[in-house]
Amino acid sequence: MQTPAKKILPIMTTKKLTTMIMTAMLVSLSACSHQPVSTSASLQSTLITPQAKGQPDAFGGARRLNQEHSAILKASIDDAHAKNVILFIGDGTSDSEITIARNYLVGASGYLKGIDVLPFTGSYTTYSIDRDGKVNYVTDSAASASAWATGTKAYNGALGLDRHGKVHQSLLELAKANGLATGNVTTTEIQDATPASLYAHISARKCYTPAKTAELCPTETVQNGGLGSITEQLLKNHADITLGGGAQYFAATATAGQYQGQTLLQQAKARGFRMVNNLNQLQAIDAVSQQQPVIGVFAQGNLPVIWSGPKSTLGGNQKPAVSCQENPEFVAGTPLLKEMTAKALSLLSSHPKGFFLQVESGSIDKQNHKANACGQIGETKQLDEAIQVGLEFAKQHGDTLIIVTGDHAHTSQIIPIKANSPGLTVALKTPIDQSVMAVNYATETGDSQAHTGVQVRTAAIGPRAANINGLLDQTDIFFIIRDALNLESIQK
Ligand SMILES: [Zn+2]
Repeated sequence: MQTPAKKILPIMTTKKLTTMIMTAMLVSLSACSHQPVSTSASLQSTLITPQAKGQPDAFGGARRLNQEHSAILKASIDDAHAKNVILFIGDGTSDSEITIARNYLVGASGYLKGIDVLPFTGSYTTYSIDRDGKVNYVTDSAASASAWATGTKAYNGALGLDRHGKVHQSLLELAKANGLATGNVTTTEIQDATPASLYAHISARKCYTPAKTAELCPTETVQNGGLGSITEQLLKNHADITLGGGAQYFAATATAGQYQGQTLLQQAKARGFRMVNNLNQLQAIDAVSQQQPVIGVFAQGNLPVIWSGPKSTLGGNQKPAVSCQENPEFVAGTPLLKEMTAKALSLLSSHPKGFFLQVESGSIDKQNHKANACGQIGETKQLDEAIQVGLEFAKQHGDTLIIVTGDHAHTSQIIPIKANSPGLTVALKTPIDQSVMAVNYATETGDSQAHTGVQVRTAAIGPRAANINGLLDQTDIFFIIRDALNLESIQK
């Protein structure tokens, strides 16, 4: 038994020696050349790789800390201003949703190559404030988005207003006023709460069209001197590029103002928007600006999700484990979130003053409401892949701050596979671990599961990323991005 060990030893030693010599050569090269460290190398060196060291059942094998991190964190601290900011939002995404996705996609001891590699992490609180001033421990996406987009807590359902109805400027409005390029990307309808918080100010998030506004927000219609419906506000207060779903709302008709009697699609064209409806048309766009804005709507409602699977049921965790499938409703020509992200980045990056880009994987939340674990995991995969696109961009543009977070926590939980849960459950066969993961949805007895109120994970890399650390409130995101981009408070 001694012989094989003796044979292996010299090989390992040679390998080690080669690595040492190469490292020494690289160190001496960089020391002599006085070349600045390339942005690519510097970002690469500050990404963490929290992969288990070995077999998880061996001593130390499950450890994720595979090198001394002090140097990585020191190298990651950069208090310079950022030229660009990319904010990634997983709607309804906290530790629970991330762990469920990680277990299924890469195994319990693996790591997600976008979500998990950022050096600075922390948590933020997400409570909202009711109109009467009371704390509401469970926010919706409108109050939540208003908080990170404007720095001011709102009440559930409100967009860009405080509880007294006062309008607060959003990060997108501030970025535009300071001459930056802007993008707003989602897998949901572009009128949905997260993207709408950046361009709309309205008391009820469902006021998408003039008719709906007359019904639910009557004092805010154009004819009553208000800012108008969410889609009308989008046409007046848009990003350079806005991508997602929600085509059906452009068929609505304006009931007052300059475009009275015209559909919102006709109004968009009259205002100079280029409207695109599939991936090929999007790829053909070669420039965007406030004068040449683009709206891409790739579905009548929300974009189809990429994965499907059996719905959770009462006692479903005790039935045979199932696997997730590709969703046949994800039709050709529908862009993936990573494709929309890549296109937005390629268009916005040519702007000399930099940009602010928001990218949301919105249906992690919607599949959570539907108690559909596979749908939820697929959309978390989309978020992770979009973040990887952002990280590739930041390797070439070191002056880019990337922040990754969720807007509120949600229902899904990992529970014991034999648990007698009162909720809806499903047992998933995990492809990497070849084990069983039971996912539980137990916040509602009706058709739609409810949000929950725990703090939500935050992560960041790039200039000013060290602020994304420890315990924050989601309103801090507004101030961190405003100050990172050095935006002045200019009302336009
Ligand atoms: Zn929701």
